[in-house]
Amino acid sequence: MFNIVIFGAPGSGKGTQSERIIKEYGLHHISTGEVLRDHIARGTELGKIADSYISKGQLIPDELMIRVLAHYLEEHPEEIKEGVIFDGFPRTIPQAEALSELLERHNTKVHAVVGLEVDEEELVRRMILRGKDSGRADDNPETIKKRLDVYHKSTAPLRDYYTGKGQYHAIDGNGDLDRIFADIRASLDKARM
Ligand code: ATP
Ligand code: MG
Repeated sequence: MFNIVIFGAPGSGKGTQSERIIKEYGLHHISTGEVLRDHIARGTELGKIADSYISKGQLIPDELMIRVLAHYLEEHPEEIKEGVIFDGFPRTIPQAEALSELLERHNTKVHAVVGLEVDEEELVRRMILRGKDSGRADDNPETIKKRLDVYHKSTAPLRDYYTGKGQYHAIDGNGDLDRIFADIRASLDKARM
């Protein structure tokens, strides 16, 4: 298995670059944001709870989010065999600790964390632009600001956490999509050796 975390602020391009990474490396993409939005669309019990946090720009509580991810991994044994790209998880230190425990149970680990580093004005610009046709309840100016605050407070510390473990690969996430992907590929190929 080859497992990657794609990491970065909201609007940093995690989803976009994940699509390219899965094509190149044959990994299974797990976007926790998409899993939650799917529950919201289907009107499940989890969807109702998730919606109450997402629409305010808040994180789903760790305990619940960790259960959702554990459940997803159990339900998709075939899909995850070759490896996974985790997009939007972990977003907190407790989630990162839970992820390594979950992967240990599958006799594997996180092999690399790809950190997309994007200027704050560019993040806001992209999310406002996306909000025009994404229909996403959280891509509006007020919620974007809240999401960025939450990112700085709860998620950004993971950068040091994974740097300390020697797993963090910083990528300049500003600018041209092809150049960003070329940089990602170069660090993943190093991490795979
Ligand atoms: P990007 O634009 O880079 O794809 P994003 O932050 O805009 O990222 P998602 O990753 O789709 O969007 O997440 C949307 C929302 O879902 C988050 O703001 C949060 O409320 C909730 N969410 C997703 N993953 C988690 C998680 N691991 N823990 C808690 N809440 C989560
Ligand atoms: Mg996303």
